[in-house]
Amino acid sequence: MQQEELVFVGTCDFAGLVRGKGFPAAELDHRLRQGVGNTGSNIMISAFGTILSSPFGTVGDVVLMPDPTAGVQIPFDEGAAEHFYLADQQMLDGSPWCCCPRDFLRRALTALEAEAGLTVKAAFEQEFVYTGVEDRLGASYALDSFRRQGVFGESLIGALRAGGLTPDSFLPEYGPRQFEVTIKPTMGLRAADEAVIMREMIRSVAHRLGHKAILAPMIEPEGIGNGTHIHLSLWDRDRTPASHDASAPYGISARMAPFVAGILHHLPALTAITTPSVASFYRLQPNRWAPVWALLARQDRGAALRVAPVFPGAPDRAAAQFNVEFRVADAAASPYLALGALIHAGLDGIRKGMTLPPEQPEFWSMSEEARDAAGIAVLPRTLDAALDQLEATEAAQDWFGPVMLAAYLEFKRSEIAALADLEPSDICDRYAAIY
Ligand code: GLU
Ligand code: MG
Repeated sequence: MQQEELVFVGTCDFAGLVRGKGFPAAELDHRLRQGVGNTGSNIMISAFGTILSSPFGTVGDVVLMPDPTAGVQIPFDEGAAEHFYLADQQMLDGSPWCCCPRDFLRRALTALEAEAGLTVKAAFEQEFVYTGVEDRLGASYALDSFRRQGVFGESLIGALRAGGLTPDSFLPEYGPRQFEVTIKPTMGLRAADEAVIMREMIRSVAHRLGHKAILAPMIEPEGIGNGTHIHLSLWDRDRTPASHDASAPYGISARMAPFVAGILHHLPALTAITTPSVASFYRLQPNRWAPVWALLARQDRGAALRVAPVFPGAPDRAAAQFNVEFRVADAAASPYLALGALIHAGLDGIRKGMTLPPEQPEFWSMSEEARDAAGIAVLPRTLDAALDQLEATEAAQDWFGPVMLAAYLEFKRSEIAALADLEPSDICDRYAAIY
């Protein structure tokens, strides 16, 4: 059989899935200049594969323009190589398309840099279920499960490294057959590109070994969630860290405090973007090590925003190591939209001079009334409620722009409607089949 190498160009869309088109690798130079034709309604392809609703109809062209810095070429011993580029969506005149997820993040980064002289360094952790191991009691964090996943972990780390990422860790997580992989922090747009590449490599390596990786937020309604945790720090123009002040509340510097306050303030609305599936909200329940409250706390894995510890042995690197972990995201969210929304919200905090609430070290023994009185909001209980909060957020008009916000709300509301008659366990199955 004759075979010819192909290259795929795509973007991680509203559904948090990478979609695009392929072409012969021989055409790559030309495609890097001219892009690949696409249509507006493609961004409205639901998680379930059909366009449930679209403001764009059948009319119009947008261009998927591959970013030469976001290319991945990973040979595998068997089967086709992974060869793809992540892309921007542009108008025919080369300007950004108003609904481009990657440009949503770029706009946030550009504004943060222009207005505050800051950039964001971020690292993503991804939890998932790997079907290539049996479900055994006592497997949580166990060397035995680490061993029984065979060459999956090593192949994944190898693929990430070959794809230009710097792996940080791979571990058996708490849930049945659950694992986690983490990559090192990177600056700006690249951090989200790497999160997309990491998710694709988790799926690719599992598939090549004859199994599946399930990144869906919940495998069953009462089970253990798969989170995407996003670690954030702020850096100055001259690349010095700007997040840490050991003597300040939470250890957060005066420059970062309003940024974190902005995220905290907008957290209920942000869930519509960072945990954007119906099943995502089954995860945000008590006793799951997943957030329920818009709580910022030091070293508390029940908080929505956890101030990560500075580890011993490197006091000189404390400022560079210091970061805040956003725990409310999952794999149904496009990393471009999730990271972009955090930065837009943080910048809103900087613009409005928002301040951090007092630390609440006794949070877990406080009554609901006391939490209320301290202004610590409960996160929305459903995607529906989250979307209403997003729609009611005036600043979000500016983050998205009117066309993109309306399209996103329509997209997510049609997803809810498509699942309206299903039980939670069927809803989890639907998402698990896709993510
Ligand atoms: N699986 C938990 C979640 O859904 C997180 C566990 C952890 O702290 O790593 O977010
Ligand atoms: Mg984890």
